[in-house]
Amino acid sequence: MTYVIGIDIGTGSTKAVAISPSAEVIHTERVSYPTLAPEPTYSEQAPELIWQAFVKCILRTIETLKENPAAIVLSSAMHSLIPVDDKGSPLMNMITWADNRSAAIATRIKESDSGDAIYQQCGTPIHAMAPLCKIIWLKENNSDLYKKVSKFISIKEYVWHKLFDVYEADYSIASATGLFDIEKSQWSTNSLKLCGISAEQLSKPVPVDHAQKEVKSSVAGQMKISSNTTFIIGGSDGCMANIGSFAIEPGIAALTIGTSGAIRVANFKPTFNFKAMTFNYRLFDNLFISGGPINNGGIAFKWYAESFLKIKLDSPEKYDLLLNEIETIEAGADGLIFLPYLLGERAPIWNSDSSGVFFGIRNHHTQAHFTRSVLEGISMALYSIARAMEESGGSIRKIHVSGGFVHSRIWLQILADIFNKEICLINPEDASAMGAAYLGLKSAGLVNDYKTLMPSHYTCIIPEAKNQAVYQKTFLLYERLYKNLKDEMLLAEELRNYK
Ligand code: ADP
Repeated sequence: MTYVIGIDIGTGSTKAVAISPSAEVIHTERVSYPTLAPEPTYSEQAPELIWQAFVKCILRTIETLKENPAAIVLSSAMHSLIPVDDKGSPLMNMITWADNRSAAIATRIKESDSGDAIYQQCGTPIHAMAPLCKIIWLKENNSDLYKKVSKFISIKEYVWHKLFDVYEADYSIASATGLFDIEKSQWSTNSLKLCGISAEQLSKPVPVDHAQKEVKSSVAGQMKISSNTTFIIGGSDGCMANIGSFAIEPGIAALTIGTSGAIRVANFKPTFNFKAMTFNYRLFDNLFISGGPINNGGIAFKWYAESFLKIKLDSPEKYDLLLNEIETIEAGADGLIFLPYLLGERAPIWNSDSSGVFFGIRNHHTQAHFTRSVLEGISMALYSIARAMEESGGSIRKIHVSGGFVHSRIWLQILADIFNKEICLINPEDASAMGAAYLGLKSAGLVNDYKTLMPSHYTCIIPEAKNQAVYQKTFLLYERLYKNLKDEMLLAEELRNYK
């Protein structure tokens, strides 16, 4: 039996999916690990636990399928940073994308004369998530550790180094660091200078289909794979999800709502918008993935259900019970609007001081109105990124969705109506791991064109014309509310700090 494994190193877990050359899923594995918050704004993980999860996922797959895969392809979360010594041992825990300790540094760079130039050269939003800001934070706040660093690497490079003893970073992960010149595909001297480091302290940039064969024999033994198994470096979870969702041609957006959320569109060249700070990550030689991430996806809904309504969402039935209520509520929740910025927000407002708002409450509003407005608010946050992308020249004709929210038919309809676009469900559960596996099939010469892997049947949802006028008006008010409340949100932040 010929098969390939796509393995996605996510924030909460590592997931492996084994597929046949006709893209049929033959096995899946998942191993979870915790995130640590030693300080309120910190978000860290233990790289060794993630490595062990990676090994377990491969081992269990091989033990089940009892054959060696034709290729193993990696996908991973973006923006992670692990400073390592000259033996490759981490000098501290991994700093994840969600870590906010370098927020003030990000603001400083963004507002400096070179802010726009760095954003355009490196493709990454200038934000605390970017390794660029994290390295500068270490330089300014932990100089003892900073001086000992041999290499600054991501979790993917850490795993790759464990496999092959080489430091290599794929273009898409490199483009998410703020240190990489996305046009020239090499480390940016401007960013290196800001960090006070040399290119030798970073990995060698390589294309996403770059392969290595001779895995270390000790590691091959641990995973029970043959020592000449082909590993392909693969890409970031976002870029791999665009492959997995068949959104690698201009005009088709890949939209995810899981714990957080994002919308991403493929383009032949980068599309810049400094104000909305949309990202541009290099996927292939001639293809960039542009888009924006939100903090407040499913996590905002979870907060609403658990903290506000005291309902624990621990089964699909609990979701259905809460969401079925809103069928009777008209689009627009009868004038009730929710700004979902509970965790501050990334694109397009990039404001960590922003906060959540329910606006327009009248005494006829019920729990169901509130529930509907929460789903509408999260969906509008993504719509506002799509609007910014369209303003800077990237048009969207159709949306392919993934993430936990796809289990709710009503939420999908709300999204279709707000965007006024057809939305389709293709690989809605594991788009990143599937995308990595597809890359493996193509690199191993088992398929010629990704399009041939597209399932022949999938569900699409058509927008309902009657809801469009109301959503257009609601969205205008949604945007005005943020503009008009931005300063007040900052005052509220000061009050919170005061307490
Ligand atoms: P992660 O990004 O952590 O991998 P998932 O893709 O599993 O997260 O998505 C989790 C989110 O999906 C939840 O926060 C919730 O908003 C949504 N979700 C999960 N199950 C359902 C469901 N049955 N109905 C509606 N929404 C759901």
